[in-house]
Amino acid sequence: MSTFLDELNDAQRAPVLHKDGPLMVIAGAGSGKTRVLTYRIAHLMNQGVDSFNILALTFTNKAAREMKKRIASIVGDSEAKNLWMGTFHSVFAKLLRYDGDKLGFPSNFTIYDTQDSQRLIAAIIKEMGLDKDIYKYKQIQNRISSYKNSLITVKAYFQNPELVEADAMAKRPRMGEIYKNYVDRCFKAGAMDFDDLLLRTNELLTRFPEVLMKYQDRFRYILVDEYQDTNHSQYLIVKALSDRYQNICVVGDDAQSIYSFRGANISNILNFQRDYDDVAVYRLEQNYRSTQNIVKAANSIIAKNRDQLEKVVWTSNDEGHKIKIHRSPTDAEEGRYVAGSIFEMKMQEQLQNGDFAVLYRTNSQSRSIEDALRKRDIPYRIYGGLSFYQRKEIKDVLAYLRLIVNPKDEEALKRVINFPARGIGQTTIDRLVVAANHYGRSIFEVMEHLDKLNLNINAGTKRKLGDFVTMIKSFQIMNEGSDAFTLAEHVSKKTGLLLEFKKDGTPEGIARMENIEELLNGIKDFVEGQKELADATGSLTEFLEDVALATDMDKEVGDDDRVALMTIHLAKGLEFPYVFVVGMEEDLFPSAMSMNTRSELEEERRLFYVALTRAEKQATLTYTQNRYRWGKLIDAEPSRFLEEIDEQYVENLTPVNDGYRYKSMLNADIFGEVDKSKLRQIKPKSGTPPSTHRPNENQLRKLRKLKPELSTSTTNNNVVDSNLAEGVLVNHTRFGRGKVLKIEGLGNDKKAEIQFEQGGMKKLLLRFAKLEVI
Ligand code: ATP
Ligand code: MG
Repeated sequence: MSTFLDELNDAQRAPVLHKDGPLMVIAGAGSGKTRVLTYRIAHLMNQGVDSFNILALTFTNKAAREMKKRIASIVGDSEAKNLWMGTFHSVFAKLLRYDGDKLGFPSNFTIYDTQDSQRLIAAIIKEMGLDKDIYKYKQIQNRISSYKNSLITVKAYFQNPELVEADAMAKRPRMGEIYKNYVDRCFKAGAMDFDDLLLRTNELLTRFPEVLMKYQDRFRYILVDEYQDTNHSQYLIVKALSDRYQNICVVGDDAQSIYSFRGANISNILNFQRDYDDVAVYRLEQNYRSTQNIVKAANSIIAKNRDQLEKVVWTSNDEGHKIKIHRSPTDAEEGRYVAGSIFEMKMQEQLQNGDFAVLYRTNSQSRSIEDALRKRDIPYRIYGGLSFYQRKEIKDVLAYLRLIVNPKDEEALKRVINFPARGIGQTTIDRLVVAANHYGRSIFEVMEHLDKLNLNINAGTKRKLGDFVTMIKSFQIMNEGSDAFTLAEHVSKKTGLLLEFKKDGTPEGIARMENIEELLNGIKDFVEGQKELADATGSLTEFLEDVALATDMDKEVGDDDRVALMTIHLAKGLEFPYVFVVGMEEDLFPSAMSMNTRSELEEERRLFYVALTRAEKQATLTYTQNRYRWGKLIDAEPSRFLEEIDEQYVENLTPVNDGYRYKSMLNADIFGEVDKSKLRQIKPKSGTPPSTHRPNENQLRKLRKLKPELSTSTTNNNVVDSNLAEGVLVNHTRFGRGKVLKIEGLGNDKKAEIQFEQGGMKKLLLRFAKLEVI
């Protein structure tokens, strides 16, 4: 008998061995839900189910890859290869490539990312002559996205007087028109946005019963991880596809439902039993991930939520450390504390950087953590922030590649038609857009037929436009015979993009050039990888799809060892030995935007539950007394969640002596050097002192100077190279003498900002800079 089933406990084995028919596994964090799903697939295949007939939907593509690897190790590589496994978006993008033509989309349709959508919406608002302060493109994009996720098409919108009225009341009576124009323009551009991938799949399966039957028959076994976070559109797709064979297996945890803002609907879990006949429900109770303290602390938090399914979670793991809580005066200090702790723990316990994760509520919180880690020379990686693929130069190259595959792609065209500069001005572009709208054609098509149209564009400009069209067409011809790498390399050179950044000569320009090189390396890797797959060729279309759907989380990180920084939302499903959750403050976590109703607050609490349960060995929660937000230093109050953790599982690292467990703002250890009696007079009544009694930034700076040892890492931070440091004088072969003002970045990216006596201020990449310390 195979041994992999022995790697499961009895409760886990039952759903893995479950024969046909619907089943649901509902269980708390770390209890092996994902493992059950993985092993069930392997088991099905061992029982003779063809991998072709299995569809598995995961939360990230990274999770899918890991599952696939595990399955391959059980059933063999060649068997695992054909599994359709990935996120909803990537799986259904693939399906639409096969059958989207029935809806009028080309098989090489472009996937617009959020930025593309926003740009297009902004352009539409401008073309319609609307006030951009009332019609804010980001808000509009959000709204359109939520319509789509609720399957409200343009037609449905106009048929729903409530929606129309609501927008009129919100002083946006032309919302519906914008929506319509946006959908039309995407269609004309042969493009789908992220939400379309689900909406159009639904449309396809509803309007074309033969297509539905084909996929129902193909996907006889459907498995969904993180089921609690599927939205309505995803729910309907799963429901439709599984309707015939009803071999649907979903795993989830209602306590980890954290995407309601994107339309995820917790009732999907609650209604599962109603939707299918004879549902088998399995529960898992044993947590294998975390220490007893972490599991019990997490249980004590989630118990505060009213809306939840009763669950037991226990562990036979060690008791472990208590949850540490640490307070800092400012966010900069918080960063230093986290970096200092990581530094010390690594030393003391021989740990790797990769053993640590720092989680936060919002992306912008990463900056102070990054600064501190950099100063400690601790390598880190940010997940989900500005991803590699969102950098300007990368988007430029990708825009050319997108145009080759789909010349109707309006956003790609607008991005590069005059970059690098080729003398095509905005007025010309505007004229082309107007003509394209008028004739119901794409901009590229208009450009192809300039001679026949009377567009008030002069001969010189016409020639330039013609040259551009010819260039793109020459790439298209090349695309037919080359793989994505060869073509991308050619395009980067031929368009002048590489040269453009090289000419620039600044460290930024060099960095951009290197990023393009990195992109080319990535494409090469991709092409090699694809060649091994049965149904892939390494074509440009495949590459672009991979990129469009890659969240930063999915990027292979190689084996380099870095601290992981990410939002809690992104951390779902992951685990790390040591976890810091920073910014545990009211208005930040729980977020100020999510405190209006009990259900919003409960979602924030579930988010906190997710954060805490990522930790295997140790969780540290930090909060600050003052934090920069929107450019201002504001007072911060400790998060209510800190008080909700059962005290017996908590160790307060910065105990306070004013009777308020977390709410004291002024504590002796920070103010050791100042006149404490004055501070005491203004002690808070309600736990939160009035803001005027807080130290201002100047005071804080002074205090920190007085007692540098108070923060874990203010000493010796600045030494970057053996002798190059902030403040030292240097000599540069070309620029002469200067003073180092700032050093930033890591490894190859390390830069120095230097004030030269003659040459002014320069930022230099240390790898290239010819510097001598004097
Ligand atoms: P989450 O709710 O966070 O998604 P989960 O329920 O999906 O968690 P898994 O990620 O599958 O849990 O498992 C948590 C950890 O416990 C993983 O490291 C997994 O390998 C391990 N694990 C699960 N079951 C067992 C088992 N029976 N024996 C040993 N380790 C196990
Ligand atoms: Mg999981």
